[in-house]
Amino acid sequence: MSPTSEPVAFKASCPDCRARFELDAGALRLAIGGSRRTTFYSFTCPECGAAVRKPAGERIVELLTGGGVSTLRSI
Ligand SMILES: [Zn+2]
Repeated sequence: MSPTSEPVAFKASCPDCRARFELDAGALRLAIGGSRRTTFYSFTCPECGAAVRKPAGERIVELLTGGGVSTLRSI
């Protein structure tokens, strides 16, 4: 991420408490695996503290990696 780029906020919602919020890149983790089931992003809900995991499609993966979200390779 270049120093001149704007901070990116990702819109997300919590399936537990249904809160909607924006997260910055540091609050998100992206795991990329060999299949759809092992490719997902996760975050902790700032409202209720739930650990949320959602499947990440190709577009989401591009969006998150382009926004500086740290990426894990899952098996
Ligand atoms: Zn929540």
